[in-house]
Amino acid sequence: MSTLKAVRGTRDLLPPETVLWNRVEATARKVFARYNFGEIRTPIFEETSLFARGVGEETDIVSKEMYTWEDRARAQSEKSQSLTLRPENTAGVVRAYIEHKLGETGQLQKLYYIGPQFRRERPQKGRYRQFWQIGAEAIGPPSAGSESPLRDAEVLEMLATFLDELGITGWTLELNSVGSAADRARYNETLRAALEPLAPKMCADCQRRAVTNPLRVLDCKVAEDQPIIATLPRIADSLDENSRAHFAQVTAALDAAGVPYKLNPRLVRGLDYYTRTTFEFTHGGLGAQNALLGGGRYDGLSEAIGGPRAPGIGFAIGLDRLVLTLQAQEAAQNAASPQAAEKGHAYIAPLGEGLNAAALALARELRRKGLTIELGDGSFRLKKSFEAAERAARRIVILGEDELKSGILTVKDFASGIQTKVARDGLAEFLGP
Ligand code: AMP
Repeated sequence: MSTLKAVRGTRDLLPPETVLWNRVEATARKVFARYNFGEIRTPIFEETSLFARGVGEETDIVSKEMYTWEDRARAQSEKSQSLTLRPENTAGVVRAYIEHKLGETGQLQKLYYIGPQFRRERPQKGRYRQFWQIGAEAIGPPSAGSESPLRDAEVLEMLATFLDELGITGWTLELNSVGSAADRARYNETLRAALEPLAPKMCADCQRRAVTNPLRVLDCKVAEDQPIIATLPRIADSLDENSRAHFAQVTAALDAAGVPYKLNPRLVRGLDYYTRTTFEFTHGGLGAQNALLGGGRYDGLSEAIGGPRAPGIGFAIGLDRLVLTLQAQEAAQNAASPQAAEKGHAYIAPLGEGLNAAALALARELRRKGLTIELGDGSFRLKKSFEAAERAARRIVILGEDELKSGILTVKDFASGIQTKVARDGLAEFLGP
């Protein structure tokens, strides 16, 4: 029988790598809480039409990357429906915002999520079919200040703080404005006209996009098309006075807060719902897939999926890529100054299987006091216990009949080689913190 493996583009995350994942997630929760963001968890699958209407039919995500299936009816009274594994989480959050009438609170809603997303992309380093995103959305009625450029600047400042606190060095914030829906419509027409004579020389996707949604031509990754794309008109020239003023206020607030950024007039992002501010944080260490995270404003998304007017701004961080970046950074640091891997406080070695139960009781006592304890097994010879203990913990605690009766335990410290007799009462204090 052939052995079963994880599906192409998916992977298992094992310790010790998961320690890093947990650290990133914990840092996100801690930093976002300081900005008063609360967690939202939406389902992993939604109705297909949510993404078709929200993300856009002509985007790569919707046109070729979604995992969609016809979900059969289980009873006569049910209808079958088309469902999709979420390729991103903003549409789901906005759906929940509408469904739970969060706009009626009159308050700006600040929500973050952490979870897997699914896209049928060609797998490569930093690009998977199941990948993880940490994202956040600030959304609400205009009366709650949801359109204010200060919200954009605050979200960008929060991201810069998050990356700095994680210890990611060398990130670049690339920033652009794609304007209002009207600006984009105007720009799309300008592009359509500019592309008419050029499209026949471009890839098949671009030829189609040049007619259906010219903005998406700017997402093209085909190398031969890039010189043509470089000659196309810039979106900045299609922005009206309001959009320009909004963007100027975003950059002014970033300047005041000391958050560095680079203007990138070609940054349009691959999802149709973006309006005005759009951004990516990139990192040179990632190679071809260099976007650590991306986001922007989506002032019309709620209406596009049948909700009230609810402008918003948000982002999605690629957790897989963030971890890759941290791993590369830490490997470089460890090569410079190797550190001992994180080890437990102690390994308890019962001397004989008859002491296993007593060893569990002792381990329970110590773990409840917050110590990390590795529990050995009485069937091991002492030599094997010592070898196992040294790999897993800083000290070994020997538990034999005598120790159990007297309540005095033998503890050996591996770093110093010193052996000490310690009363059971004082053991936790001796081993900790
Ligand atoms: P997007 O939702 O396309 O704006 O992507 C936001 C971020 O998610 C990107 O900047 C990446 O870091 C990450 N990302 C998107 N697609 C993938 C993928 N297939 N595999 C890993 N990370 C991804």
